[in-house]
Amino acid sequence: MQMKIAFFSSKPYDKTFFETENKKYGFELNFYETHLGPHIVKAIEDEKAVCVFVNDKVNRQVIEVLANKGVEIIALRCAGFNNVDLEAAKEFGIKVCRVPAYSPEAVAEHTMAMLLTLNRKTHKAYNRVREQNFALNGLLGFNLFQKTIGIVGTGKIGKAFVNIAKGFGCKIIAYDLYPDEDLASNGIEYTDLKTLFTTADIISLHCPLTPENHYMINQHTIELMKDGVTIINTSRGGLINTHDAIEALKKHKIGYLGIDVYEQEEKLFFKDLSAEIIQDDTIQRLTSFPNVLVTAHQAFFTQEALEQISEITMRSISEIAQKGSTAEIVML
Ligand code: NAD
Repeated sequence: MQMKIAFFSSKPYDKTFFETENKKYGFELNFYETHLGPHIVKAIEDEKAVCVFVNDKVNRQVIEVLANKGVEIIALRCAGFNNVDLEAAKEFGIKVCRVPAYSPEAVAEHTMAMLLTLNRKTHKAYNRVREQNFALNGLLGFNLFQKTIGIVGTGKIGKAFVNIAKGFGCKIIAYDLYPDEDLASNGIEYTDLKTLFTTADIISLHCPLTPENHYMINQHTIELMKDGVTIINTSRGGLINTHDAIEALKKHKIGYLGIDVYEQEEKLFFKDLSAEIIQDDTIQRLTSFPNVLVTAHQAFFTQEALEQISEITMRSISEIAQKGSTAEIVML
């Protein structure tokens, strides 16, 4: 019998890319638009694998039901795995895999796109010119050349962003729990987090969200930063205390904020809510600032990245099903 895989939080583009990749495997793919949760778990019949995304909350309760339904594999079609209870998965004998590396350049390039939008105000210029307002008042930007960029997390994406930022002639300082030797020997200065916060003109977050670094950007750490600091977060929403960031924006302490991730994003992102009344006042406040740019978790969203995500996910599922493991397995 063909192995069945249930996809949750799936969008038309997921279907397109995974069905193309599945021509190599011939699995039965079932796509559900809804997120994975107790409400849908009954729909799982004889699927051996579920495939989930960033905002599916795969907690102990969900995992227990999945195990009772005979699910053996949870495949994350993303890099981060903070939304899966790994201990519960281990306890119930479910293997978890993810896509640790897929086009880090996609996220790094989006980070630079956000930074360039904010520092040159192209989001404002685009609208102005469409309304025949060709004035420059209020569009004054700043050069990236010779600015200090503080990069938190120099893994695959952080490293790709270092290369891009170098091309702009920026000075780069970095903080990572495990500094990268290549970068260190190529002129990237590693500092402690406090020094990074104090000296960077621009701070870009590229580390995973863990219990230790939840709200890494908060009232106290923002106070350490330069006045008018630019902060870009393409990692995970929980790294920033949004309430504290809003207070700092109101006081002009934060000069520019670019976020592709938001701590309450699961209620909003990846949905068309243009005809709805948004109940989340925080996101509404954020989007009201002229110097805040919000994108809805789209940093990964390139043709190249989606091809790699579907390829790696399907290969991992197949390898776990056949051999019990894969290089992309997530260990506790
Ligand atoms: P990676 O594992 O290659 O690198 C992460 C780096 O962060 C590592 O060098 C690690 O040592 C470091 N790190 C871990 N904890 C840290 C901490 N507390 N402080 C400082 N550094 C720490 O991961 P990656 O592929 O570069 O991805 C980074 C993050 O980007 C992911 O965890 C994910 O949350 C996010 N991401 C976002 C998108 C998007 O579309 N917005 C897409 C992919 C990944």
